[in-house]
Parts: sequence; C-alpha cells; structure tokens
Amino acid sequence: MNGSCLCGSIAFEISVDILRAYQCHCSLCKKQSGSSSNSATLVEQSCFRLIKGHSFINSWVKESGFRSDFCSHCGSPVPNPVRDLGLIWIPLGLLPINVQPQEVVHLCTSTLSSWHLVADHSKQYEALPDLNALKDLLQIK
Ligand SMILES: [Zn+2]
Ligand SMILES: [Zn+2]
Repeated sequence: MNGSCLCGSIAFEISVDILRAYQCHCSLCKKQSGSSSNSATLVEQSCFRLIKGHSFINSWVKESGFRSDFCSHCGSPVPNPVRDLGLIWIPLGLLPINVQPQEVVHLCTSTLSSWHLVADHSKQYEALPDLNALKDLLQIK
C-alpha cells in the first residue's frame, strides 16, 4: 500500500499489511498531532520505502530521542525511524481510507484528554510500556 502527506509531496510504500495499531495520549503526541492523541503503528524498516519527497522531509528531534518528521510544504507528520531500532513509525492518517487496522492498545492514558472518549476494550497503559511489550501487541518480531 502507498501513503502520502497532505499535499502529496511525500509518498511512501509499505510492503506489509497494517493489521494492528496503537493510540498514544502523551503530551508530545498531543502537540505533534495537534489533537488528543496520535494513532500510529510501527513497521520493520525493510518493509518501508520512500517513493518521493525526501527533500521535503524536515525533522525535529528532542533530547530524549522523541522525533517528529514532517512535510516542509504542508506540515503533515510523516513516517520516521524510531531511534536505531530498525523500525519506522507510521501515522495512520497518511494511509488509504480502506486500511482499517485493529486498535490494540492505548498508551499514556494518565494524560488522556477530557474530550477523548476511549470506546474500545483494548489494553491500556498509563505510561509508555517496554518496547518489546508494544512490539508483541503490534505483532512485530
Ligand atoms: Zn506535504
Ligand atoms: Zn506519545
């Protein structure tokens, strides 16, 4: 499947089905998304390919390692590597509408926004879980 930013300058291809996703309610994801949370998933680096727009990708990295890549033309968040873990973070809203993964976990629910109703029965973590726990939930090896 292919995904793209709001203006289409940046496009990418993912060679694996996106079946599972998470929602993170931390303070950084709120700022990055401009909303209550980020809906995203992770894929292995080998399953991800940038098709176009490399020169449009701007990157902001916090000292803690939190990284936000975005399109310099339209401002959309775009996929970025997760530290040096061989994983790529994928914001779900960039994928085609017919990609409908199951939401399996909510992260950082201690900072859940009052206007965000959690209406599913997936697992919840008050803070960030161990990466291996998250990979297990997303069924990434
Ligand atoms: Zn763009
Ligand atoms: Zn977060």
